[in-house]
Amino acid sequence: MTVENHRQSRREFLRAMLLATPAVALVPGVIQASAPRIAPVTDLRFLTEAMAVRRRHEWTSIKPNPRRLRAASPNLYTRITLHHTGTDVITATSEPAVIRCLDGVLGGHLNRNFGDIGYHFLIDYAGRVWEGRSLAYWGAHVSGENEQNIGIVLLGNYERQRPSNPQLNTMTHLVHVLRHRYGVRRGRIYGHIDLGRTLCPGKYLYPGVQRLNELA
Ligand SMILES: [Zn+2]
Repeated sequence: MTVENHRQSRREFLRAMLLATPAVALVPGVIQASAPRIAPVTDLRFLTEAMAVRRRHEWTSIKPNPRRLRAASPNLYTRITLHHTGTDVITATSEPAVIRCLDGVLGGHLNRNFGDIGYHFLIDYAGRVWEGRSLAYWGAHVSGENEQNIGIVLLGNYERQRPSNPQLNTMTHLVHVLRHRYGVRRGRIYGHIDLGRTLCPGKYLYPGVQRLNELA
């Protein structure tokens, strides 16, 4: 349940290009004609030293399209929003089955002309974390509220299923590490439903999201 805001200023476009292709970014005509579309790699050591994270390149070979992405202000995430994918019930735990789910989310977002998958992180039923959109870009997961907002989605439909304990433990751990990295204050951990007209992240997940604000 996501909305991309595509309207970009030229300055934002150039900033995205600078991140993607530092050597030639000052020549926009050249970039548009021939530059490879390489995603900027955000240094996730703060996260990978704390927990296992499957990086984006480990599950997909599809490159993001920086022209459709907005560069994030470095280290300026002030809130975190939790989602569910909200269609099928998903209890798959094998990596190939999970990757098919991830491919489905990415494909759906690309079909809507997003520059990449809308969420920064995805959590599967087994409790693994998968990197989605680079934190170098604002996400595309809450209409009009994507700036400074890290998007995390749990695969599944939590109107119809309950999250697994590994998922909840991982969600808690991931949010803990991210909020301390960026200084996200108590009360700034949201369910999508707090910011938009939606049932997301579902009635069985939302109470767990609310409890995250009680954990400082
Ligand atoms: Zn949502």
